[in-house]
Parts: sequence; C-alpha cells; structure tokens
Amino acid sequence: MDESGDVRNVEVAVVGAGQAGLSAGYFLRRAGFEPGSGFVVLDHSPGPGGAWQYRWPSLTYGKAHRVHDLPGLPLGDADPGLPSSEVVSAYFARYEDAFGLRVRRPVDVRAVREGLDGRLRVETDAGVWSPRALISATGTWDRPFLPYYPGQETFQGRQLHTAGYRGAAEFAGRHVVVVGGGTSAVQLLMELAEVARTTWVTRRPPVFRDAAFDEDWGRSVVARVEERVRRGLPPQSVVGATGLAATEAIRDARARGVLRPEPMFERITPHGVAWPDGRTLDADVIVWATGFRAALDHLAPLRLREPGGGVRIEGTRVVKDPRVHLIGYGPSASTIGANRAGRSAVREIRALLSGGADAAGIAPAREAATF
Ligand SMILES: Cc1cc2nc3c(=O)[nH]c(=O)nc-3n(C[C@H](O)[C@H](O)[C@H](O)COP(=O)(O)OP(=O)(O)OC[C@H]3O[C@@H](n4cnc5c(N)ncnc54)[C@H](O)[C@@H]3O)c2cc1C
Repeated sequence: MDESGDVRNVEVAVVGAGQAGLSAGYFLRRAGFEPGSGFVVLDHSPGPGGAWQYRWPSLTYGKAHRVHDLPGLPLGDADPGLPSSEVVSAYFARYEDAFGLRVRRPVDVRAVREGLDGRLRVETDAGVWSPRALISATGTWDRPFLPYYPGQETFQGRQLHTAGYRGAAEFAGRHVVVVGGGTSAVQLLMELAEVARTTWVTRRPPVFRDAAFDEDWGRSVVARVEERVRRGLPPQSVVGATGLAATEAIRDARARGVLRPEPMFERITPHGVAWPDGRTLDADVIVWATGFRAALDHLAPLRLREPGGGVRIEGTRVVKDPRVHLIGYGPSASTIGANRAGRSAVREIRALLSGGADAAGIAPAREAATF
C-alpha cells in the first residue's frame, strides 16, 4: 500500500516516457485504452524528452544519427544547430499533449512484483498501481556502465562517464584519455581534440564502416541483436553489432590523426594510465565512454533474468511472464525500433487481456476513430 492506502487499478502500466513509452501510449489510445483507468504512463524524469533531455548540449540535432518520428505526429523541420535535447524535448511535449497521454512525472517506479488476482503491483514514490499488464520502456540512460580497472580509486585527476559530459570547454588545455569504441567516444574525441590533448583507448580495434547504412544492413543488425535476447543473453551494444559509420567528419578526423586508437591500458595510476608492456601516460581526465546497460532494476522482484544474464524475450514479450513487455530493449533500442515495439507490445497485450480472442491485433480504421 502507498501512504494514502490507495492501490489504483489500471489495465496497463507503462514505465518510461521516452520514444518507446510514448509510442506505447499512442498505440494504447488507438486500441481504445483510456488514460487513467485504461493505462498510465509513469516517468521519473522532470520533463518530457526521455533520455534526450539529458544529452550533452554540444550533441546538436544535426549531429544525432537520426531521430525517427513518433507514430502519428512528425517532428517537422528543426534547426540542426540546436541541441538535440531541446528539439526532442519540445517535440515529445507537443506529442504528449496532442494525444492526451497524461504522463505522470516525476514518478519513480521502484519495484514491480506479483500482485493480487493475477495482477502486477507497481510500487512507486507516488503510490501503488495495480495493472494487468506492464510495458517497461525505461531505456538505458539511468544505468551508465563503468568497468573497473585496478588503481581506479587512486587516480588524482577527474573521471567521468559520457552521461556526465556537458561539452569540451571545461577540458581546455588538459590531457584527456577517452575509453571506449562506440559512437559517443568518437563524437567526444572530435570535440575534445579542438581544445585538449586526447588519447583514445579501446578494448578491441574499432571497425569503421565505409558502406552506406542501408535497410538490409539495418535488418541484419537487428536480427543479430534479436538472436542474442532470444537466447536470454544481455543485448550487445549497437556499435558492437554495427561498426562505426565513417561519416565525412569522421574520415576527416582520422586523416588528421584525431582518431588513432591505442590498446586498452591495464591499470590506472595516480597520474594517468599504464599498459602491460610497462608504458605509462600522464593524464588529467579519464572519460569513460563505455556505454549503458538496460535499466531493469525495478523488475528484479519478478525474477525475469535468465542464467545468461539477460531477459529472454519473443518480440517484446518476456518469455517468463507474458504480462510483461520490454520495449526499447535489445533489438528495439533505437528510435525506429522503439516505435515498432510499442505497436507490437500493445497488440499482444490487447489480445492477452481479451483472453486471446483478439490476437489479430489492431485494426487501423477502428483505431483512427478513437481520436
Ligand atoms: C548519446 C546517445 C545518442 C543517441 N542517438 C541516437 C540517434 O541519433 N538515433 C537513434 O535512433 N537512437 C539514438 N540513441 C539511442 C536512443 O537512446 C534510443 O534510440 C531512444 O531514444 C531510447 O528511447 P527509450 O524510450 O527506449 O529510452 P529513454 O529515452 O531512455 O526513456 C526512458 C525513460 O524511462 C524513464 N525511467 C527509467 N527508469 C525509470 C523508473 N524506474 N521509473 C520511472 N521512469 C523511469 C526515464 O526517466 C526516461 O524518461 C542514442 C543514445 C545515446 C546514449
């Protein structure tokens, strides 16, 4: 029970109001669920935008890979020079309004456990909800991943994860070691190299991909990540599956020697880093561009994890508990994948709640009429 003793019954609870959660909200409305009694969207961030509201200001809209429109309302033209955080947050705010999604925020979902009468129990800092099905769309931003290296705690300089990066200016004149082989590492190196000395270290030699990122290629990447989560393994990082896109800016930076990877160091010293061959390097700052993990802690009481460490899902449905869907997870962890996942989760949940009789899914003509 929450402080007021209330447990609010609802058909579906959506946790997270990023691209994935809003897409789910849209398809829930289209399927005839009403905000309030039919579904509730809970998000612990202060404003609209999902993780985009936290992206560093120098990640302008023009530099983002590609932000796909949410279903039913295009983002429209936006100034590529504006921070993505501003552009996407304003778009999501408009979207929530347009479809009356009534996102409840800030509401932190602390635990989801078995409830009464086959329902789930969603415990938050703003009370308890009791849904018949749950869509978890919590992304990864809340779980920055920091590997451990010996000596890390002795380092006298500054260490930060990309999640805490706000722009290159504060590193002017410093020597910065950037750790990680992903897109964030590459973007930060290109910015930092303008004002600082940089060293790039990666666990594996980065693979730059010159060919265009076309649809076939996209499908094959998604298939590979899908295969992993079907086997109950944690989803691989996107770059692990794709390689790095060699854009013109990246080609230019490589030609200027800005993107010259070194192998991973072995330990951290008070003043820098050291490699197994005895080589050392003094540094003022270590930036961990080492990615994120899926934010699934709130689901721990349901014991959904497999021995392989991941959650096995078929499409978006958790194999161990068909009331629970994960969207924006694994193969759907991109703005386009999140849209599709929202649609497919709602289709299955609708079938589940109507006793399986409605498995055919969403009929577009009827959905459109609900707005
Ligand atoms: C730096 C960076 C750049 C990227 N650029 C692109 C790009 O250009 N194109 C692209 O397609 N993808 C990009 N991605 C991937 C991107 O994160 C996804 O595509 C998409 O935005 C994720 O949407 P989401 O809804 O799954 O998660 P999020 O946007 O992370 O939303 C999750 C929401 O859940 C909330 N939440 C989390 N836990 C809880 C809880 N316990 N209780 C309540 N609320 C909770 C959070 O507050 C958040 O609002 C990028 C990722 C990063 C890190």
